[in-house]
Amino acid sequence: MKYLVVADIHSNLEAFQAVLDDVNENYGGFDHIWCLGDIVGYGPSPSQCIKLLHEFDYTCVCGNHDQAAVGKLDTSDFNADAASANEWTARQLSEDERQFLLDLPEVVIEGEFTIVHGSPRAPVWEYITSALSAAESFRHFDTKYCLVGHTHVPFVFEQDEVSVNEGYLGSGDMLVLGGNRLIINPGGVGQPRDRDPRASYAVYDSEKNIVYHYRVSYDVSATQEKMEEAGLPGFLISRLGWGV
Ligand code: ZN
Repeated sequence: MKYLVVADIHSNLEAFQAVLDDVNENYGGFDHIWCLGDIVGYGPSPSQCIKLLHEFDYTCVCGNHDQAAVGKLDTSDFNADAASANEWTARQLSEDERQFLLDLPEVVIEGEFTIVHGSPRAPVWEYITSALSAAESFRHFDTKYCLVGHTHVPFVFEQDEVSVNEGYLGSGDMLVLGGNRLIINPGGVGQPRDRDPRASYAVYDSEKNIVYHYRVSYDVSATQEKMEEAGLPGFLISRLGWGV
């Protein structure tokens, strides 16, 4: 079984479609999507991204932006651009799309994987950005592996007998599972923040027991034009070009 692992699509249809095309054309396709939350927020195509996800078998948890878009989470902690994009997103959603976001769970366990948006300790909000925060997180899930998103940066944290080690995931990197416990972040599809604007994702092959990490270019300017038309904040538009 092959799982496509995507996080932080953020209403970016061009990036999400590019990931689907890339995995189908270059890496033998997939059977199921593991979506780590923040399908909506920031970008110009929330309904289209939700619709596209529903064309596949998927498991999806909610992110902070998914909850904010349906009023389940208050946006007082959002910066001004994120809050303004959130208000715009909320106005685009149909009743069915709202219900879909409202119903998303915060934590899902599938086999050896715990799936959350932020961290196993605080699934919707906490960012795992360092070995220190990862060390704390390892105490908060029981499976061997945990998949997280939220930081929009592809990373792996590995727990051995004495410490937690961290490593950036580059395109083409692979993690052979079976040794130590891991927390894996596939990076962001729709708004990468590691100074590489390409969409970031992972594929887990359960027969080979390997997680592969990939990047793929997409038509950033097409997304940016849609954002301009929608009147979304300028910084959210320009950051896509820089990958920040
Ligand atoms: Zn996000």
